[in-house]
Amino acid sequence: MSENASNAATTPRQIRQKGARQLVIVWADGHESQYDVRDLRLACACAQCINEWTGERCLDPATVPLDVQPVKIEGVGRYAIQIEWSDGHSWGIYTFPRLRDMG
Ligand SMILES: [Zn+2]
Repeated sequence: MSENASNAATTPRQIRQKGARQLVIVWADGHESQYDVRDLRLACACAQCINEWTGERCLDPATVPLDVQPVKIEGVGRYAIQIEWSDGHSWGIYTFPRLRDMG
């Protein structure tokens, strides 16, 4: 039973953009999370943005345009989405548990 509950909490029912600046995820348990798209871009945890050995953030926020936007959002298996960004960065993978935590 608790397993079903936690699955619902990390399973998106709907992912949509709200205006140019926000991404909304509605989870299977009914919770709705809203994200500023630039915050998502800055939170990218790929090997280019985070040093995989030290866990240190290599991404300089000053290099990310204020009006950065998702160009394409794709599902990755059942556990994550991949976002291609208007600043040319296409490796942003966001797992659902992490997105749920952020929201
Ligand atoms: Zn990245």
